[in-house]
Amino acid sequence: MSIKSINWRGATCAVLAAALLTGIAGCTPVAVQGSSPPAGPIEAAAEPNWTSGGMVAAANPLAAEAGAEVLRAGGSAVDAAVAVQGVLSLVEPQSSGIGGGAFLVHYSAATGDVITYDGREVAPRGATADMFLDAGGKPLRFFDAVRSGRSVGVPGAVAMLELAHREHGRLPWRQLWRPGITLAETGFAVSPRLHEMITAVVARGSLPANSAAYLTLDGKTPRPVGSLLRNPDYAATLRRIAVQGAKALREGPIAEEIVSAVRADPMPGTLTLEDLRDYRPNRLEPVCSTYRVYLVCGMRPPSSGGVAVLSVLGILSHVDMAARGATTVAGWHYLIEAQRLAYADRDTYVADDRYEAVPIAGLLDRDYLASRAALVSPGRAMQRVEPGRPPGAQLRGRDATGGTTGTSHFVVVDGRGNVVSMTTTVESLFGSQRMAGGFFLNNQLTDFSFTPFDDKGQPIANAVAPGKKPRSSMSPTIVFRDGRFELAVGSPGGHAIIGYVAKSIVGMLDWGLTPQAAVDLPNVIARGLVVAETARMDPALIESLRAMGHEFRGGRSGGEASGIHAVRRLSDGRLEGAADSRREGKVVAVPYDSTR
Ligand code: GLU
Repeated sequence: MSIKSINWRGATCAVLAAALLTGIAGCTPVAVQGSSPPAGPIEAAAEPNWTSGGMVAAANPLAAEAGAEVLRAGGSAVDAAVAVQGVLSLVEPQSSGIGGGAFLVHYSAATGDVITYDGREVAPRGATADMFLDAGGKPLRFFDAVRSGRSVGVPGAVAMLELAHREHGRLPWRQLWRPGITLAETGFAVSPRLHEMITAVVARGSLPANSAAYLTLDGKTPRPVGSLLRNPDYAATLRRIAVQGAKALREGPIAEEIVSAVRADPMPGTLTLEDLRDYRPNRLEPVCSTYRVYLVCGMRPPSSGGVAVLSVLGILSHVDMAARGATTVAGWHYLIEAQRLAYADRDTYVADDRYEAVPIAGLLDRDYLASRAALVSPGRAMQRVEPGRPPGAQLRGRDATGGTTGTSHFVVVDGRGNVVSMTTTVESLFGSQRMAGGFFLNNQLTDFSFTPFDDKGQPIANAVAPGKKPRSSMSPTIVFRDGRFELAVGSPGGHAIIGYVAKSIVGMLDWGLTPQAAVDLPNVIARGLVVAETARMDPALIESLRAMGHEFRGGRSGGEASGIHAVRRLSDGRLEGAADSRREGKVVAVPYDSTR
């Protein structure tokens, strides 16, 4: 979809939203063949008058620097994204990696096109609807399922980057893996967060032998902060990827290693070489809707992120949020209520839409969202929140799955105005904890519902099936105004991502906050009970919300699993970025260079 084809001045928001949704609801995923080696550089035209330079905001300083280095060399936003992922996989392996999956939203400044790339893992052919049930038909314990071979989906992140690079790359593919290769060979210092995450995973139980050897000193003592960690196996894998592209993970020795890691005890999975060989990423139209004077674009299914963030905003569009402000009880009350309504629908209706008829247009229909907004009362929390019946919806059971904490989000803006907003994941900390080729394999399939029916016997849209993709909450987002890039944002956090991203957008667009101040706002997630980062909240605000009937879960602070990274283009053309202070990320600006 091109944002340049929109008449920003002439169209009213309602007309604009209707036109966009009609166009998008009818589109189907475009499977793109991605088996040949990566193409050489593609020359992309610059946005005329772009003088903002470039920027990278990522969850780790080494990864952000690697991306910035690519931009300095004249690389595109997608080029930088490849380098960022190559390094993140090494230095933040608890959160994402080449053994996982990703979603990428891309804006091309030259054409005005917004397109998304789907590198979500798929369930192998041998997957069954009952594979997360025990012999008695009861759901497996979550962490038993995570550590099992059954949780591992066919990885998609590298194949997706290869496809995006073929369409938007400028520098040669092989060059982009160099920062990751160099760091893996020379070693990097274990960061405080990596140490903390190793400690957490060791405390949960035994690691497979190769992961334990990598992450600990003696099988159980986490590698200390500052110790030098080398990963020659990962360097060797990246060298193969640099030459062969994603094919290096689809066949040959690394593919064989992946299969044997998945098929190892306990609870081996069914993944085969054929499953790896057949993986293809998708290029999908974005799901977009207007919010006040902005156009907000995100991922369509298999992620629920785009639809759910747009539902929250669509409900809030009936409230004057700007008049309420970031410190007001009313502002937070409406944000909470809009989330409760949006999560109820998202939990019920969104899944892989190649398997399930997902009523995207119905969920985002203006009248439907107006009817949802009408359920909110100004002074009192809704007693119960049920999913609605959006136009086109079939009866479905609500599914409570939603991911854990193994994800990373980054934003890249290049020196020509192209933008990447990418969320990338191995699902839980270090994914399934199983390693092959020096990287961790995801446990993304635990994002499926463990049971195929709810307790009333209703089928669950997000049930497991062979070849299906588990529903995600990842919400890489790009926002436009008057035909120009306005901001890009996203976060890790499982189902809470939707709340984190909606909060950040409202913070920047309605509450007039800088990107950093919006990211720093307390995280308040309202999927059922409210989980709030109370340590960042004024106690009087919490008391007032309680008095309105909002129930907070737990006494401790919550919601700190975010890693929100954002870049905004200010009215004077400068870029301003934000890195979530709850993680160890960094924003790197690359000055405008008129010679590029
Ligand atoms: N696996 C989750 C999803 O795709 C993300 C987990 C996380 O954010 O840490 O929604």
